[in-house]
Amino acid sequence: MKVKARKGDSLSYYASLFHIPVELLVDSNPQLDPDHLEADEMVEVPGFIKETCVVREGDTLWGLSGERNIGVDALLLINENSDPNEVETGVELFLPRRVVTPVVNGKQPYDSVRFQKDLILLQELYPFIRVNAIGKSVLGKDLMECKIGRGAKKVHMNGAFHGNEWITSAVLMTFLNDYLLSLTNSKDLRGIPILPLYRTVSLSLVPMVNPDGVDLVLNGPPDGMAEELVRLNGGRVEFTGWKANIRGIDLNKQFPARWEFEKRRMEVSTPGPRDFTGNLPISEPESKAMEQLARKERFHRLVAVHTQGKEFYWGYEGLESKESERLAGEIKRASGYASIRYVDSYAGFKDWFIQEFQQTGITLELGKGINPLPLSQFDTIYRDTLGIYLIMLYKWW
Ligand SMILES: [Zn+2]
Repeated sequence: MKVKARKGDSLSYYASLFHIPVELLVDSNPQLDPDHLEADEMVEVPGFIKETCVVREGDTLWGLSGERNIGVDALLLINENSDPNEVETGVELFLPRRVVTPVVNGKQPYDSVRFQKDLILLQELYPFIRVNAIGKSVLGKDLMECKIGRGAKKVHMNGAFHGNEWITSAVLMTFLNDYLLSLTNSKDLRGIPILPLYRTVSLSLVPMVNPDGVDLVLNGPPDGMAEELVRLNGGRVEFTGWKANIRGIDLNKQFPARWEFEKRRMEVSTPGPRDFTGNLPISEPESKAMEQLARKERFHRLVAVHTQGKEFYWGYEGLESKESERLAGEIKRASGYASIRYVDSYAGFKDWFIQEFQQTGITLELGKGINPLPLSQFDTIYRDTLGIYLIMLYKWW
């Protein structure tokens, strides 16, 4: 919600007026001098929307503010020309409404259009997040990253490397929305206060690494590509088994971490729904974007979210960080998921991340069943794994 500043006001005053942490206001308004606002500058107030109400006979701003437990000065701010003692019957007034429920609904087929819309909604409501494109897919869709927090510890999470694992995007977006709600409402998430995490951790999320693959699984081939894609799909017209990007290359077998070995091991030499490493490592725009992001940001921790198996892999050739084993123990305890150090699979993003930076990386396999997992598993998956995302953010030694 936007309000028009009065000369001499400060963001810390607005923080107390709306009961939101001041750093969220400051980060939502990076262009403003937080201590000296000028008249008519527009100030973003995160976690609020403006509602209109029609004044009834006898209403006053004092009365309305008391009824709704909102400071009268907050009402004056968003109704600049009103007299607090007397407002005219029948006139429309703005009322600030605190947002306490999520806007993201992850329990629906979650394609790239839905995802982009949700990101825009979240950015409008919580302007302290930073949303940017880190690259484009083969079909030109933006690969979106969302950053949140101002801390020195850098944690990255991503989802939907594989097209038919689109439920992972929905899970990460639900987590993001819950994280944001906890911040603006100063409420714990699973007993964890989130504002201290905002101060100490920078979270980077790329919830949908492979939007073309996701859209193919959910919506079928794009115009003009049906014939070629059905051929790559072995003649099948339904794409529920499709993991690859739109060129038939498995993005999680694209990274130079025993890539040649993986290429031979998989015995897949042509593009298709899954397991083709490509003819060269990092040949695809999606894998390239992820590589560049990791090199630029130098994350301390990575969670690559996949389905399925109710397990997670946390080692690579003994190069993983020292904390990895301890963290794996915590994750296992919190989720009941099986902790697996080494798995007979290579050239994944997590493998390369560990090899390249010797940091902590896990591949998390949500739920159990046949991909794409049905939405009926969504609540269980989220309940089981929320603790994992939080542990990766708050457990440091
Ligand atoms: Zn996967």
